Amino acid sequence: MKYYSTNRLAPLATLEEAVVKGLAGDKGLYMPEKIKALPSSFFEKMKDMSFQEISYVVADAFFGEDVDADTLKQIVYDTLPFDAPVVHVNNSIYSLELYHGPTLAFKDVGGRFMARLLGHFIRKQGKKEVNVLVATSGDTGSAVANGFLGVPGIHVYVLYPKGKVSPIQECQFTTLGQNITALEIEGTFDDCQALVKTAFMDKELNAHMQLTSANSINVARFLPQAFYYFYAYAQLAKIGKADNLVLCVPSGNFGNITAGLFGMRMGLPVKRFIAANNRNDVFLQYLQTGIYTPRPSVTTIANAMDVGDPSNFARILDLYGNSHEAVCEKISGCMYTDEEIAETVKSTFTETGYLLDPHGACGYRALKEQLKEGETGVFLETAHPAKFKDTVEAIIEEPVEIPGKLQEFMKGTKQSIGLQKDFEGFKSFLMNC
Ligand SMILES: *Cc1c(COP(=O)(O)O)cnc(C)c1O
Repeated sequence: MKYYSTNRLAPLATLEEAVVKGLAGDKGLYMPEKIKALPSSFFEKMKDMSFQEISYVVADAFFGEDVDADTLKQIVYDTLPFDAPVVHVNNSIYSLELYHGPTLAFKDVGGRFMARLLGHFIRKQGKKEVNVLVATSGDTGSAVANGFLGVPGIHVYVLYPKGKVSPIQECQFTTLGQNITALEIEGTFDDCQALVKTAFMDKELNAHMQLTSANSINVARFLPQAFYYFYAYAQLAKIGKADNLVLCVPSGNFGNITAGLFGMRMGLPVKRFIAANNRNDVFLQYLQTGIYTPRPSVTTIANAMDVGDPSNFARILDLYGNSHEAVCEKISGCMYTDEEIAETVKSTFTETGYLLDPHGACGYRALKEQLKEGETGVFLETAHPAKFKDTVEAIIEEPVEIPGKLQEFMKGTKQSIGLQKDFEGFKSFLMNC
């Protein structure tokens, strides 16, 4: 399968090139040339298949031409030793809990898959070591670091803003050691991201070491996120609730929802999608006006969605032939303030006993407000509420229990290297690695 750039100015790439490069040479995002429709027999059988079995069928449609069947199966099975259960919350609303992986957030799926696929290409080609640079405000760094931990031939550098990441998040990527190096930058998340972007463009640095990115622009991180949409459908089909399905996705960079839209294009019977936003609502503005105006992000209590210029917007436009009308036919939006998010976490907990995290709360509330008669709604619960312990405890005025996996990270010793935010210092550190 070949991959083209959304800007259409870069040459077509192989899967391997797209994964190793991340972003295309013309700064566009890679898209697969074909999106294969899956046979109706698959959708009929699906309710009797496991998460891993379903995911392998989907992975084969994306990657089967480029990765031999045994290897691909191994990658999928190693990526998913955990479940993504659909849990009933209230009326016709269900939660797809994507937080049963090692770092308790949905990004574990893409992080683990990408690590294994990139590791496969490096072994196959006998390539020199590849270095992954990732800037994080919290969740991405932990999912990528844990996904790549111990993968031979790959070294990961996680850049994070000093003092601006919660202690629970910080320990998930600073205590690992091995092939993971945490760089604590004197600056903001934007400074970290700028360092990474400048590094990718620096000729001397790229001659010294092979660099790649691991955010949701990378096809190996983003496409595997389609797996759990199919699995959610299968679980609802099993209980006879799969008709008129509405999927609601708390969105920041829009990688997660775009993977779902790919699933729909492959034949997954979904009626429509809702993109839930916090106050960073440039996508909702686009739906309402047809004009896309990126703007600087503002800080909210659902901080993994604090994105002012969602990178996967280009993929959504491409998927719908740049037609605003076509996008609006399949996707609607909404925006919630911090007060509304907090109110939703609180009232849902009191009324149903279900504890939402601030991101999932946007998804749940959107379904509560927008679901029509006869529709079944599933929102993606993108992270475990304990990852946002202080925020959630302040809202529900009760202690939140920390799962064992998180407690283990908190017992580790922090190892990080402090750096200033200037590029020259960062570059000379990497040149000496
Ligand atoms: C990353 C993240 C999101 C946003 O996902 P996108 O793919 O960037 O839209 C939502 N919730 C949580 C908890 C996240 O970590």
